[in-house]
This record gives sequence, C-alpha cells and structure tokens, in this order.
Amino acid sequence: MAAAVSEPGTIAFSVKYSGKEIQINSLSSDSSLAQLQSLLYEATRVAPDNMKLLGLKGKNLSVSSAKLSELGVKNGSKLMLIGTPDAEIKQVTEEKHESVEFLEDNEAYCDGEVKLEHRPEYLDKIERRIREYKITELQAPRAGKKLLVLDIDYTFFDHKSVGSHIDELTRPYIHHLLTVAYPHYDIAIWSATSMKWIYSKLGEMRLFASEMFKISLLVDSLACISVYCEEDEANVNVKPLAVIWGQYPQYSASNTIMIDDIRRNFAMNPQSGLRIRPFRQAHQHRQHDRELIRIAEYLEAIADVEDFRELDHRRWEKYAAKRAKKRAKLEQKQGDSANPDSAGPA
Ligand SMILES: [Mg+2]
Repeated sequence: MAAAVSEPGTIAFSVKYSGKEIQINSLSSDSSLAQLQSLLYEATRVAPDNMKLLGLKGKNLSVSSAKLSELGVKNGSKLMLIGTPDAEIKQVTEEKHESVEFLEDNEAYCDGEVKLEHRPEYLDKIERRIREYKITELQAPRAGKKLLVLDIDYTFFDHKSVGSHIDELTRPYIHHLLTVAYPHYDIAIWSATSMKWIYSKLGEMRLFASEMFKISLLVDSLACISVYCEEDEANVNVKPLAVIWGQYPQYSASNTIMIDDIRRNFAMNPQSGLRIRPFRQAHQHRQHDRELIRIAEYLEAIADVEDFRELDHRRWEKYAAKRAKKRAKLEQKQGDSANPDSAGPA
C-alpha cells in the first residue's frame, strides 16, 4: 500500500481562499490539476466544477489532466481560489464573516497628528523608489489629463468573501466609474499586493478589455514604503504618490486623486486621498451598493478644478451633491432660454 511519504520532486505552494492560506505540500510538478482540485475540495468543500483558480498560467487552465508544471505551479507559488462551498458549509462561512464585519475601521488611522509627509527618512525611501521601482505602463500619459489612482481590495473587490464567479465579489459599477473618469483622468491601479494578483484580478474583471477606457499604470506593493504609525506602535505600509509623481512629472498634487478604503495609505499625501467606504460582504451588499456611481459623479464634478489642492475630499459627498444641483439649475435655465414657451404660462 502506498504510504503518504513525500516524494522527491514534491513542491510546496499555497492557495489563498476566503482570506486564509491553504498550504499544499503533497503534490509534485507532475500532479494534475484534478489532484490539486481534490485537495482543495477537502479543505474548502468547493466542488471542482465551481472552482476558479487565479494565478495559473498557460493554455490548459481548465483541463483537469493538465500537469501543475504546465500550469506554472512551482515551489513557492501562490494561487487564489474563488468558489462557493457546498451549501451547508457556506452558511457557516457566512456566519463567521458576519462577526468580523466591523473589526477594522481605519477612518482615523495614522491621520493628521503625525506629519509623516515631511520626515527626511521617508523622503529618502521615496527617492529610492523613484529611482529603482519600475511602474508598469500600459498606456502613455495623455496630454492634459488628471490622474486617478485606485486601490483594488475592498475598494472595488471583496477579497475575503467566497463566490462562484469574480463578478459576485466585484463592486457594482466599477466599469461605469472608469468609463466616466476616463475622458478626464488617466487611470492608475495601485494595490499593496503583487503584480501577479493585480493582473489576474483585473483580467478576470475584464478591466483590460474595455472599449470605453484604458488603464494606464499599474503599481504594486514594491512601490509602498513602511512608516512608523504611532497609533499602532508598528511599521505599516503606505502608498506615497510621490513615487508616481517622481517618475511622471506631468502628475502632481494639483491633478491627482487617490481612492482607497484605508486612510492610512494616504499618510504621505493626505490631501490627495479620498477614503471610500470599504466593499465587504459582497453577497449582502452588492445589490444595493451605489458608492461607485457617487464617486464617479464626484470625479466628473471636480474634473475641471484647476488645482486639486483646493479641494477637501472628505467633503466629497457634499461637493458632488452641490455640483449636481448647480448643473441641474443651469440645464433648466438653458432649456428655458432655448424654449421660452416653457418658462411660464403663456
Ligand atoms: Mg484596500
């Protein structure tokens, strides 16, 4: 009888699922996709037919006899699993998610009190990123456009819930937001994860394939810097926009807006950040979530503001509402003068 001895040629890799890492170390590069799926089924109760694995490479992504080596899986690989578990397990999982809902609210995080933006040690780190970090440019900057920098996880993707298709975990109206923004803004995506995840998530969401907008820049965790956060008494990673500004001088604090669910990420450029309500528990909220429609309204409303440093993005909702009212009034006035009969009773 074959014993469970690790063979030479065994590979160790991990699969992220519902915010947890599943370690796989009993397969080899000759093992098949079906074998991997069966192990994952044991761990997650997601049926192989409902599994979507992100991070695989090659042409045979859904051929169950494909070898792991053909799919680019090797020692140290990191994959991500999307899939809904069998019904009864699903219920348990959702209850568990329920209880962690409000654990992390970063509203006041590292904010205001600590003027990190001027500390020389951090400016040095930024200088190094400007020199050494390579921003992925998918489309060159267009003349006269502003810059929109968007986070992914919890901003428009719920990376901790489980779903059978990425659409279930994607915040509604992300395509709408990018379509509205694109005439005015070049679009950068900055996620504090690796470039591999950025590509696979955006690819699955079909954000590279739109006719309505193009993504210009991709920025990953290697462009982040760690700063000391007094509230946490710990080092935390933040996203300094100066890394982009240093490499693309056409963008600056006067024409850049960054949208992220964690305010701490703006610590080096607090004035340029808009903190969005996080998109969590996708299944509960995706029916009603209109946040990206309202953000799109705001982006459009401020698109003609000469210098973004005049704006206070904390007041974005009021600003957007005021602009919408003004515009409606103006449109009514224009309508009236174009058609005097409609101005009042004859
Ligand atoms: Mg996030």
